[in-house]
Amino acid sequence: MFSKLLIANRGEIACRVIKTAKRLGIATVAVYSDADRDALHVQLADEAVHIGPPPARESYLLGERVIQAALDTGAEAIHPGYGFLSENAGFARACEAAGIVFVGPPASAIDAMGSKSAAKQIMEQAGVPLVPGYHGDDQNPAVLKKAADDMGYPVLLKATAGGGGKGMRQVWSAGEFDEALAAAQRESLAAFGDDRMLVEKYLTKPRHVEVQVFCDSHGEGVYLAERDCSVQRRHQKVIEEAPAPGMTPGLRQQMGDTAVQAARAIDYAGAGTVEFLLDEDGSFYFMEMNTRLQVEHPVTEMITGQDLVEWQLRVASGQALPLTQRDITLKGHAFEARIYAEDAANDFLPATGTLAFLQPPEESEFVRVDTGVRQGDEISVYYDPMIAKLIVWDESRERALQRLASALAEYRIGGTVTNVDFLYNLATAQPFRAAELDTGFIERHRALIFHAREQDIAGEVPLAALALLLYRRQQVRPRACLDPWTPWASHNAWRLNEAHAQHLDIRCHDQDFAITADWLGDAWRIHNGNQSTVVKVQLEGDVLSFEVDGHRQRGTLAATGDSFVLYLAGGAISFNEVPPDTGETDSSGAAGGLSAPMNGTIVNLLVEAGTAVEQGQALLVMEAMKMEHTIRAPAAGTVDGFYYQPGELVDGGAELVNFVPKDSP
Ligand code: ADP
Repeated sequence: MFSKLLIANRGEIACRVIKTAKRLGIATVAVYSDADRDALHVQLADEAVHIGPPPARESYLLGERVIQAALDTGAEAIHPGYGFLSENAGFARACEAAGIVFVGPPASAIDAMGSKSAAKQIMEQAGVPLVPGYHGDDQNPAVLKKAADDMGYPVLLKATAGGGGKGMRQVWSAGEFDEALAAAQRESLAAFGDDRMLVEKYLTKPRHVEVQVFCDSHGEGVYLAERDCSVQRRHQKVIEEAPAPGMTPGLRQQMGDTAVQAARAIDYAGAGTVEFLLDEDGSFYFMEMNTRLQVEHPVTEMITGQDLVEWQLRVASGQALPLTQRDITLKGHAFEARIYAEDAANDFLPATGTLAFLQPPEESEFVRVDTGVRQGDEISVYYDPMIAKLIVWDESRERALQRLASALAEYRIGGTVTNVDFLYNLATAQPFRAAELDTGFIERHRALIFHAREQDIAGEVPLAALALLLYRRQQVRPRACLDPWTPWASHNAWRLNEAHAQHLDIRCHDQDFAITADWLGDAWRIHNGNQSTVVKVQLEGDVLSFEVDGHRQRGTLAATGDSFVLYLAGGAISFNEVPPDTGETDSSGAAGGLSAPMNGTIVNLLVEAGTAVEQGQALLVMEAMKMEHTIRAPAAGTVDGFYYQPGELVDGGAELVNFVPKDSP
């Protein structure tokens, strides 16, 4: 086994690998960009080497620099994690040339699976079933279109160099083909520097079931059951589980054997994942093989009781696989939910921000949180906006799902928008509980999942106002007073024997509330309009304890700058005190929606300056965080001009279009 390992990655996966290395007594070396100088992975590693500025292509993607860091620190092996250099055959070769072990498969296996189309040709020869499609070299648009026409619609266009759902487009009819092809090629070129496409029959109700395989360098190969990753948005996994619901031992063995056969076809070694589409009739088709550890590997670890990073390190150091196929047993059920800084309601737009408040659920044998960030850390534009992976386990699917829902309800994050509420809605949706899974799940159940939480805002705002009041006192007199109920701790004009009213104007979810609170000696009477409630309340640290009519409950108050989030059993409410009216008007008003949602690049202008447009008409396309975003007209009107040209960088919030609404004076 190695004595020192360099981890060529960042975030949760770097931390995850470091943990196992530590347990095995292996010294660790982190690498970091300027943006990650104080990151958790740097703190956890024994040593850390600076490798460049924040953009990944100037740091984490620079293979030579990573290898130099390993040579300088005497690391004998490099674990690439996932993403970045993990599926870069050139990097694997360069490691070998430098005398460093690449913790992954041989470069030839990465090459073989690197192109989706070449991989399909290899698998076809090895007798692995494929989705019908065109994966040839001729990229003439007419040839691609003919393949689609012959196959019959719907078809799916996929970037041969693709990954992460980028450069992928569904095409439902011949008329849509050309436009979809252009968009997919553009996205692929931007993300992978390569615009080659393959065309596949689009299965309308498949499940995504993938098999975890492991091979050693002594010719042995095993599979560690499967994961169901059908719940996806934008062809990207959202919640994964293991084992796949409804899987029979027979089908598991059949898919497992096929996966090992696929790995053998390319002389595989190490951890790999063979992804299949499982059709309603039980037939399955090879989709692609990922030649690295997957993001969702923890669910496999939970049901097998194995540490896959340990397996990787053992195999990379030349040892045999720790278990034979017969010794691999499954226990219980596990889920993983990916917690992202993103706006689910706004087409999952990635978000940035400082994690001003971060309180994950408590970890236990049932709950695991893999993360690379701490409270106060920043989710920046430079990297993937994943905050954490929440993994839960229990004896049955039903109980594990119950754990998932309660852990999500306890996950508290302030300072950026997150998908936590969306994940909660998903985890508690009846069809998900009933395991009615396929890759169209989210689209089909939009109404169920995207509903705003039913919330009694008017009922909760008075409590929020009280929490704010107590927070202010806490700030002014920290620990000065031992009796939390006493009004003596008040820093404003409280007078004995006089009904003392506090007034607060609270803005909550775009509504304003005028709240008045009277101190009654041992409780508060709070008024919201003509409603009034008597509440005993106490704020200790960020824990708010309150009692109404003898019913005691607890919540958490998170202060992030001038705004607050109060987390209660039924969900969270965000609020702030209404700022005094300065007479300024909001300039974003009529032209709303015409500013850049985040830092990015202008891709394409879709209308000429001076054109009259309809409400909702697409005006321009920009790319941010490797996804395309379309900016649309907020109302009918005229585009007088654009402030940026294709290829130009824009800052988040920058105005993009000079737009004059039709009815403006
Ligand atoms: P990427 O490598 O970009 O993640 P994949 O080839 O793994 O792309 O496909 C991602 C997802 O797209 C799959 O999990 C599945 O939901 C969907 N998908 C891929 N191919 C097909 C197909 N032929 N029919 C229907 N859905 C598909």
